Amino acid sequence: MDGQGEMSPGGPRIRRLPDGLVNRIAAGEVIERPASVVKELVENSLDAGATRIDIVLRDGGRTLIAVADDGCGMGAGDLALAVERHATSKLPDEDLLQIRSLGFRGEALASIGAVSRTTVTSRARGADLAWSIEVEGGGVGEPCPDALVRGTRVEIRDLFHATPARLKFLKSERAEFGHAREVVERLAMAHPGVAFSLVHGERTALRLEAGTGDPETMRKARLAAVMGREFAENSVVVNDERDGVRVTGRAGLPTIGHRNASRQYMFVNGRPVRDALLGGAVRGAYSDFMSRDRYPMLALFIELPGDRVDVNVHPAKTEVRFREASLVRGLIVGSLRKALQDAGHRASSTVADDALGMMSRSLSRGSWQSRPGRGNATGAVADRLEMSVPPAASVPVDESVPDPEYPLGAARAQLHETYVISQTTDGIVIVDQHAAHERLVYERMKAERAGSGVERQVLLLPEIVELGEGAVTRLAERRDELAGLGLVLEGFGPGAVVIREIPKLLGQPDIGSLVRDVAAELEETGTALALEERLAHICGTMACHGSVRAGRRLAVEEMNALLRDMENTPHSGQCNHGRPTYVHLKLAEIERLFGRR
Ligand code: ADP
Ligand code: MG
Repeated sequence: MDGQGEMSPGGPRIRRLPDGLVNRIAAGEVIERPASVVKELVENSLDAGATRIDIVLRDGGRTLIAVADDGCGMGAGDLALAVERHATSKLPDEDLLQIRSLGFRGEALASIGAVSRTTVTSRARGADLAWSIEVEGGGVGEPCPDALVRGTRVEIRDLFHATPARLKFLKSERAEFGHAREVVERLAMAHPGVAFSLVHGERTALRLEAGTGDPETMRKARLAAVMGREFAENSVVVNDERDGVRVTGRAGLPTIGHRNASRQYMFVNGRPVRDALLGGAVRGAYSDFMSRDRYPMLALFIELPGDRVDVNVHPAKTEVRFREASLVRGLIVGSLRKALQDAGHRASSTVADDALGMMSRSLSRGSWQSRPGRGNATGAVADRLEMSVPPAASVPVDESVPDPEYPLGAARAQLHETYVISQTTDGIVIVDQHAAHERLVYERMKAERAGSGVERQVLLLPEIVELGEGAVTRLAERRDELAGLGLVLEGFGPGAVVIREIPKLLGQPDIGSLVRDVAAELEETGTALALEERLAHICGTMACHGSVRAGRRLAVEEMNALLRDMENTPHSGQCNHGRPTYVHLKLAEIERLFGRR
């Protein structure tokens, strides 16, 4: 104590940091790489009400980043303020809870200016003069008259030239540009009414026209332009609301899964965010239809009142904190399940494309020529489809066959006691009878589960499971929900629960591990996914055993019944592992295969 008193005259002194240094420190949080600059500038253009935004990068953004917009622009006074720290036009009052703009911290331009050579040129709407201002290494010049037709143009040169440590952390030009491109794509997905262009060096990497038509059409077109036509055509509309929180967007069919989660996009009040909540919720919603190593593609847009979400968690504003995280999670899971349910038996069109791609490759390789005894192209196609010529069993065509107008057509043949071939108005359908039936049985079991509730089994000897107190509280809070899933429990003194009934489907499980899994899941995600997944898994396993095996000969009535069942059953387009249950080949495609078109 007394030692400190003695030290103070010669000890460290507190001093206020000069503005330039403060800005550079702040830049460290907000401006990590060229992509962060692009993000801040494009957000500013969107906040300024731009309808077109043109972005140019050179050398991955290291030497030049230029963003031009046709937004509201700024006059000379505002221009000088804009590059100052903590100066913003976006917080008209002190209310941090009602933020509708993408920016609000008023530090991006000051931070960027501290670590680059920055020029901002702008013309306020209706003004007859444009102004520009220069910032270099934090030193701000005077606004000068300049020429610009409309809006604002920001030019960043030599990013991080004064902070070599940052420079060293940058990746290759290509990688840095890739990050920047992703930033632009994400913002563009949330703003389909705005035109975007992105040029890297000499190359135009992205050109997105401003959308027209109703919002859903605009969104679909924009998502197709960014995520690919395949996604747009093989996704379903999501649209749901719960307690003032709305979720819209599109969810990919399980058959077009991706190998990682990079094609899962989430937006909160128009702001692209990354949130762990999304991954868990999506996994829960798709757990029935996809193996764990595949990830669905989707874009979800969540809208909720500003006071129910905190966007001021991190300077880069890519994280949010929901006030009612479990409400949002439940809404996402519910809306996805509903959307996929409505998709019915659809399997993605890519399935047929893949099959055709495979067949035409084998045709062009001329594989049939190399096989003795196969004198024509049909042989090669038949090989690929594992059908033999003539078919092992065929159905006489008579007047009693169903109308080929049915989506899955009228059954014509069963091949190899495994595949049902049917004729539709415009093509043929090949059904994997085992996979299809497994799915049908599974869905039926699920429906029964939902209808009359999960059948329960009373334990003759109730089992006591020791848990932490937090876990006991969480389980107790969800008692009713868990009982609905077949798990009946009560608190049993501090730190333990007694299990009285369990889902009958589970047979004789290790109850301790089941309950601990459920409690852990409740803590992690706020839902009883462990139990649901386990039930789903059991249903799947049982369905598999109860299914029409491959290798069973079917009567034509049975085949048609299978097709009609598939049409009327949700999720029947893929088996429990995300593989398709049928392939639809269009006549036009088949004709192309034979060179007839
Ligand atoms: P913030 O966006 O958080 O307000 P910025 O430092 O990014 O902070 O920008 C500061 C201010 O400069 C903004 O509040 C806005 O008034 C103005 N501004 C920046 N970019 C533009 C632009 N492209 N068009 C019009 N005004 C802009
Ligand atoms: Mg900003």
